[in-house]
Amino acid sequence: MTEDRVLRRDDGSMVDLTPTQLVATRIDLDAERAVVGMADGRWLFSHVCDRGDRGILRAAPALQVAGGGHRIVHVVPLTITPSILCDDCGTHGFVTRAEWVPA
Ligand SMILES: [Zn+2]
Repeated sequence: MTEDRVLRRDDGSMVDLTPTQLVATRIDLDAERAVVGMADGRWLFSHVCDRGDRGILRAAPALQVAGGGHRIVHVVPLTITPSILCDDCGTHGFVTRAEWVPA
């Protein structure tokens, strides 16, 4: 990770778009990735998102559960099908038994 591209808050921490309120559950997959279940039923994929010239931050795009794209097979241990792909950074992988497996 190139430090000068990391988008930082005033306190020096990486900008993190992951909600901290109205969170129903949070499953950490590894140091850089987590899946967050929201009280309103949305599921978010929180991850360190390298957007090239636009910088690096922690983003949390919503999975496409409502549209029928993603299915939460199990909450414990967390398993989601099909794979998750971030359009911004190209991160692509599977969440199987609460582990991230790169695609
Ligand atoms: Zn991303």
